[in-house]
Amino acid sequence: MQSDKKREIAMPGDKLAEIEELLPGNHVFDDSGHIRAAVVGSVVRDMRNMEVSVMPATRPQVLKPGDVVTGMVETAQTSSASVSVQYVNGKPSEAELTGSLLMRDSAPRRGARRSASVKLGDIVRCEVQSLTNGMIHLSLNGEGAGVVFARCSNCGRPLIRAGSRLKCDECGNVEERKLAGDYGESPIRP
Ligand SMILES: [Zn+2]
Repeated sequence: MQSDKKREIAMPGDKLAEIEELLPGNHVFDDSGHIRAAVVGSVVRDMRNMEVSVMPATRPQVLKPGDVVTGMVETAQTSSASVSVQYVNGKPSEAELTGSLLMRDSAPRRGARRSASVKLGDIVRCEVQSLTNGMIHLSLNGEGAGVVFARCSNCGRPLIRAGSRLKCDECGNVEERKLAGDYGESPIRP
C-alpha cells in the first residue's frame, strides 16, 4: 500500500536500492552492490537520472550562537542539564544533537531557596550561547527561553501554570521552573 506517498526517512546504513537498480547519488554509499544511506534524511529517488540520494534532515553544524532550540531535558543537576535537541529555530531536527544548559546564571539571592530552572523530562526552549570545544552550550537568557511543558514530579500529570509557578491539578503539588511566556500553550510552539 504505497498509495499515499509519505516522506521516506532513511537512517544511516539503511538499504535504499541495489546498484543494478539505481546509481548512488548524494549522502549514500555503495556497500558491495547495496546502496545505503550515509546520513539521516529523506530519500530522494531521481528516476530521470536513475539515482538515489538522501537529503540530510539537518545539515551538520547547522547551529550557531543565537539559534533557538527546543528539546527535552535528559539529565538535570543543580547547575547544569543536558537537552536533546528536537527543534532548531522552530524546524524539526533529526540530527540528534545534545546541548548543555548552564543554569548558574540564575544566581539565587542570599538565603533564598534555590529552585531548579528545569527538571528531567521538561520540554525547554533555549538559546545557543556558544559552540566552544565542540559542545553546544545553551542558555535560558534569550527572549522566549524557558520551560514550555512540564510534568508533575509526584504523579506525572502535566503541570498547569499558576502565576509564576506550576501546579498539579491532580495532587496539588506546586513546582517552580524558569517558565517561557507561552508555557502551557497547546500545541507547543517549538
Ligand atoms: Zn501531581
